[in-house]
Amino acid sequence: MSSDAASPAGDSGSAPVTLSGHTGVDTAVIGAGVVGLLTAWQLRLAGHDVTVIAPDIAQDASYAAAGMLAPISEVQYGQDELWPIMTASRTEYPQLLATLSRATDVPTGYRENGTLLIAADRSDRDAVAELAVLQREHGMEVTALTSSTLRRREPALAPAISKGWDVPSDHQIDPRQLVAAVRAALDADLDPRDFPEAGEPAQWLTASVTAVEEVPGGSRGFTVTTDDDLARPFSAVVLVPGLGYSAIRGLPETCPLDLRPIHGDVLRLRVNPAQLMPGETHVLDATVRAKVNGRSVYLVPRADGGLVIGASSREDSLTGTHAGSVQELLSDAVAVLPGVKDMELTEITTRARPGTPDDRPYLGALRPGLVVSTGYSRHGILLAPLAARLGAALLDHSLAGTPAPVAPLTAADEQLLASMSLTRGRS
Ligand SMILES: Cc1cc2nc3c(=O)[nH]c(=O)nc-3n(C[C@H](O)[C@H](O)[C@H](O)COP(=O)(O)OP(=O)(O)OC[C@H]3O[C@@H](n4cnc5c(N)ncnc54)[C@H](O)[C@@H]3O)c2cc1C
Repeated sequence: MSSDAASPAGDSGSAPVTLSGHTGVDTAVIGAGVVGLLTAWQLRLAGHDVTVIAPDIAQDASYAAAGMLAPISEVQYGQDELWPIMTASRTEYPQLLATLSRATDVPTGYRENGTLLIAADRSDRDAVAELAVLQREHGMEVTALTSSTLRRREPALAPAISKGWDVPSDHQIDPRQLVAAVRAALDADLDPRDFPEAGEPAQWLTASVTAVEEVPGGSRGFTVTTDDDLARPFSAVVLVPGLGYSAIRGLPETCPLDLRPIHGDVLRLRVNPAQLMPGETHVLDATVRAKVNGRSVYLVPRADGGLVIGASSREDSLTGTHAGSVQELLSDAVAVLPGVKDMELTEITTRARPGTPDDRPYLGALRPGLVVSTGYSRHGILLAPLAARLGAALLDHSLAGTPAPVAPLTAADEQLLASMSLTRGRS
């Protein structure tokens, strides 16, 4: 990553900003996780000249994520308002990836390999079966599989596992590959025939933001101060710093957000070539989500022979890797897929999810030209396409004012935004 100076705001802070085509609005995107990078991409597509400011590129939650795009298998009781957000974002993935692929040929690791829900013993089976009933009641496609179908589909699963449920539309992406692809798209010289309105290639600034302050005197614009004590002007700002939000000064005190770290330990393995028959690339085809002794474990097979096993969910004070969690993840994974024992363990990663009380993110405008997008909790990779599109559209709306929105917000968008409101849950 280069460490270029941000582009100067010039006098754009004093004139009302109008948006059409390549607007040249200089916009700071603060945070470079998957949500921040995709938001920067949507803003570039909408004509903004984007500067991404972060101490690193996607080294926090996005670095650990398995990348399950699983609005159905991630369903939990009492989260009715989260499901429409997850489902809407899932629907936006193909379009997002198609647009990205016109800007770069860097792969994203997207795989439509479906998900199987399974259980180790009788009480685990009852729990998974109950959840499958709930999922079906909400119109989700979840089909019970007989033991012989399960065996035929995934012969490497432990012989004791006799029951499974098929969720054919829950897929996966590789977040690290996605990050590389979005970075390339942000840097690319885009063909104007494909992207007639796009802004300039992104500027990258390696720094932590310490403050975002409105330019005084009623004119539009913001001063962004970084930890090297430099202050730079921008016409617009989108804050996407994950858990870093609460450390940034200057934001309206009326909007503290209820964010907390939820630590997750995750393992990365590689299939041992000795485990494969000629022509095979993996011992597992679908993503497997299992209940083992009441605990949850998932196994996500990558196309290149990788396997991601995750993830613990801890709210303790240990920010490093928790030995007991690693032990449980490995033994539960072996109970489901005995071949895990013979694989190469290549990485153990621990990161914190930016958690919120209801697992729903916070997305909204604090001021004209200032949007907050954080709290993506357990589902940020899944939610990123929706978050990026709505974050960019909200910014344009707040800049242009009604009734001349650039990117229309539909009634359905408004409803989704209401359930992600910055002030929900407050009296
Ligand atoms: C173990 C684990 C497994 C997961 N698995 C999945 C999964 O399978 N599917 C799924 O959908 N989700 C998953 N998640 C959740 C997902 O990873 C997160 O919700 C998502 O990555 C959040 O993205 P983000 O861009 O908002 O934040 P982050 O990825 O946390 O990025 C925040 C960015 O902001 C920057 N930043 C912070 N403070 C500042 C500051 N002051 N100034 C400038 N920049 C700043 C950071 O450096 C970083 O670049 C998982 C998470 C974990 C931990």
